[in-house]
Amino acid sequence: MNHITTPQDPARDEGLSRRTVLMALAGGVALTGATTAWGPGLPAASAATLRNGRWCNPARGRLSSAYGWRTLNGKTTWHAGWDIANSTGTAVYAAAAGTVVRRGWNVVTGRTGNGLVVSHGGGVYSYYGHLNTFRVSNGASVSAGQRIADMGATGNVTGPHLHFEVQIGSIGDDVNPRTHLTNRGAVIGGGWPTLDPEARGQRVKAMQYLLRQRGRSITVDGYHGPKSTATLAAWQKAVGLVGDGQAGPKTWPVLDYVLRKGHGGDHVRALQTVLNKHGAGLSVDGAFGSVTDSAVRTYQSVNRLVIDGEAGGVTWQALTS
Ligand SMILES: [Zn+2]
Repeated sequence: MNHITTPQDPARDEGLSRRTVLMALAGGVALTGATTAWGPGLPAASAATLRNGRWCNPARGRLSSAYGWRTLNGKTTWHAGWDIANSTGTAVYAAAAGTVVRRGWNVVTGRTGNGLVVSHGGGVYSYYGHLNTFRVSNGASVSAGQRIADMGATGNVTGPHLHFEVQIGSIGDDVNPRTHLTNRGAVIGGGWPTLDPEARGQRVKAMQYLLRQRGRSITVDGYHGPKSTATLAAWQKAVGLVGDGQAGPKTWPVLDYVLRKGHGGDHVRALQTVLNKHGAGLSVDGAFGSVTDSAVRTYQSVNRLVIDGEAGGVTWQALTS
């Protein structure tokens, strides 16, 4: 709803041309015929690291109401966020790292019930509404993927859901949060993430561990730089995927493993890494023992997945989204 440039995160939602210009300004990239740092054969379009791994899905559930104008009971109103429906008590995670700046009842004008506002710096905020339980205090520093609240049905609602907003400029200046997340590689409600070259973070680390388990020589440092990108691209080609060095919805399901108690190796380290992103606090030792089993079951429980202690496709998707 506004067009303020945020210096910390130049990825914008107005369209590729504007984004390309902004990225060029930010990074000194030539606008045409750009040569990518990771060598020939990889598309320059992904050079801008829009899908940077910094944002993640705030809650798992069904998208029940869209951002924009909507008519309820004959009355047309502006809906400032997306609704993610699931049962009361479903985990709500910080969509990006930041600081809790508001916590309480009706904390933003026009929004009802228990709400949280997280400031991500540069005038970017996320809002979490209709919460049942707070799991962080006002002023707390939070990491992306940290559990900050439980889904609920407080305020003016018809059932339990998370009302999620992204606000840019000032608190209350909503933008389409689905577009905002999509442009940064995250899928609102849950889905495989997309990490571009230059992405950083725990999911990159997990991807690198998985590549190592697949027999590739790679440093696990959480940075999807030129070497990491080239290693992923080579593996993608070897298994018949497009070798673009981008970890997206076609790559993750082939890259991950179905894991359960008794397994050991770098694939388990990958799993422990993404569990830790959501606060499991595991030692990343590659051993799928009782502690990791318990962490998987807890995660499955709070995300309303089948609780079987097995990390299969659905659990991996939820953990990495
Ligand atoms: Zn809503």
